[in-house]
Amino acid sequence: MTGKERVLLCLCKMGGREQEFIDKAFADNWVAPLGPNVDGFEKDLEKFLLPPESQKRILAVASGTAALHLGLVMLDVKQGDEVMVQSLTFSASANPVCYQGATPIFVDSEPDTWNIDPILLDEVISDRKAKTGKLPKAIVVVDLYGMPAKMDEIQQVADKWNIPVLEDAAEALGSTFKQKMCGTFGRYGVLSFNGNKMITTSGGGALICPDERLHNLALSYATQSREKAPWYQHERIGYNYRLSNISAGIGRGQMYVVEEHISHHRQVQAAYREAFKNIDGVYLHENPGPDFDSNFWLCTVIFDPHLKVKGDDGCGVPEAIRRNLEAENIESRPIWKPMHLQPFFEGCPAYLNGVSERLFQNGLCLPAGPYVGEKEIERIVKSLKNSLK
Ligand SMILES: *Cc1c(COP(=O)(O)O)cnc(C)c1O
Repeated sequence: MTGKERVLLCLCKMGGREQEFIDKAFADNWVAPLGPNVDGFEKDLEKFLLPPESQKRILAVASGTAALHLGLVMLDVKQGDEVMVQSLTFSASANPVCYQGATPIFVDSEPDTWNIDPILLDEVISDRKAKTGKLPKAIVVVDLYGMPAKMDEIQQVADKWNIPVLEDAAEALGSTFKQKMCGTFGRYGVLSFNGNKMITTSGGGALICPDERLHNLALSYATQSREKAPWYQHERIGYNYRLSNISAGIGRGQMYVVEEHISHHRQVQAAYREAFKNIDGVYLHENPGPDFDSNFWLCTVIFDPHLKVKGDDGCGVPEAIRRNLEAENIESRPIWKPMHLQPFFEGCPAYLNGVSERLFQNGLCLPAGPYVGEKEIERIVKSLKNSLK
């Protein structure tokens, strides 16, 4: 150990008002997966994400994974169906497809945003139709590391084939594409409030629904699909996916600091930008154009594979740098390992162009959370520069 304090990728930070909402829940005995904090948190999220004229409604649930699963249920994804899924993502984007007995069809990324390649997506849908005689049921698009996907091009493809989009914006709270909030593009959108996301409820998520009616239907699914009757009457399958009123209290407190968190992540990105601008072979993943405004949930870099790095015993540039950072008590992490390379998803069709594998091989996620300040960035940059000497 170096005796230096650990720097984590993205550690949660309380704003200060969370405890008030929790105390109120205790005082009023609202210790249940419903209550004023849940309703209040949903309203706060709607205010933050949706323009006043929007028909969309937000449902707070137990996790981002639950929100993704509910989204697929709402899109009627069933046994034997196929669902297009961005391969470069966290496994929670793909697992719920399997919960439904459907098959994920993995689609590679384009190099600008690292998200699903719209041109490839169109070709894949065409190929699936030719091979199976039917169309995929849904398209799961991810805003990876907070970077908005090319939503207008993706939506054009989706409209052409009349297939709904489920936008996994778990990492992209506060990111915008063409001034519009991520999570509000697809027919359904998903947010996550896990401990390491932009804001936290300790664990939680949200499903952004097209309108009040579908919000109510999703709410019914999320609360065991209980019908209006004195006895327990069920006409559909049900889930226990609602967010706890205690957790939602944390969420309400976090909404006071959400903008602060987002601007902090953007400042960290700016500091890395400044530090890396004169280092050859280190490329920060940036907004590819003025339409994109990432929240930079994690700051990510790509290394030139020809760089000479201290301690590179054949493990590759990012891994050698990761080990060197770790020796300084700094956490960093490889880019998400694409789903088509995961043993669990072996056998699922995958349409590849090399982009996600190249990013996985050459990239690294650097710390960006609320506790990463100037001092920490200095340590990170120094370690990285030493690695390259
Ligand atoms: C975190 C995350 C999820 C899952 O959210 P949980 O709240 O942890 O269940 C889904 N997709 C992506 C891309 C994520 O990063």
